[in-house]
Amino acid sequence: MISFIFILLNIILGGAIGSFLNVVALRTADEESWWGKERSKCTKCGHILGFSDLIPFISYISLKGKCRYCGSRISPRYLMVECIGGAMGGIMAWRWGIHPSVVLALITSYLLLLNSITDLNTGYIYDLFTLILGVSGLAFRLLGGITPVLDGLLGGILGFSVIALIIVISRGGMGWGDANLMAGLGAALGWKLTAVSLYLGFMTGGMIAVVLLVLKIVKRKDAIPLGPFLAAGGIMAMVFGSHLISCLGLTPDWPWY
Ligand SMILES: [Zn+2]
Repeated sequence: MISFIFILLNIILGGAIGSFLNVVALRTADEESWWGKERSKCTKCGHILGFSDLIPFISYISLKGKCRYCGSRISPRYLMVECIGGAMGGIMAWRWGIHPSVVLALITSYLLLLNSITDLNTGYIYDLFTLILGVSGLAFRLLGGITPVLDGLLGGILGFSVIALIIVISRGGMGWGDANLMAGLGAALGWKLTAVSLYLGFMTGGMIAVVLLVLKIVKRKDAIPLGPFLAAGGIMAMVFGSHLISCLGLTPDWPWY
């Protein structure tokens, strides 16, 4: 019963965080500040949005995806990010339960979501957000002592080096933002789960790229943003990475067990 309430709370909280991250991503791209007096506005009519316009899931659905004041369509992307945020909150709460690891899992998940939104919206992965990802990962690892911190540093180096190697060999296709993202993610995951996350990220990215090419949604020359796939790899690594490495005969490291 308690774990059910915990999961439900995290779904709702995740939706609200998703809604907030949408704003952070938009304002970063427009070089506006996230905090302060600036209230959320309709991007079409500029009407300031009230509390009832900002409830995750419910506002969008009850208004049928339209602005209450001018009736213009609101991008379904907002609802999608809220749903992904809610799903991530629920999944991590289910996977880790009421346990210290859930804190790192949730922080890492939401920062991965933020980096994916900016990558999809603008093609940029911002240094600041990947830095926060790495620093929060290492700060959490301090709770476990020096070995987990070293493991995080090793993960960061592994993640960065693999992408850096690809950038150098392929001369394009991937950017340094992707390398920074993997450095930050690696610091949160430690080296074993970083390896799992890279593998799963490239597998998912490759499979989806093939589907998009076959369905002619993208052309061979189009650049597909890689950040969301690396992020998906990281999420999967946190959910079932420890099981995978146990199957390989390796022991999962703190805090991912
Ligand atoms: Zn409007």
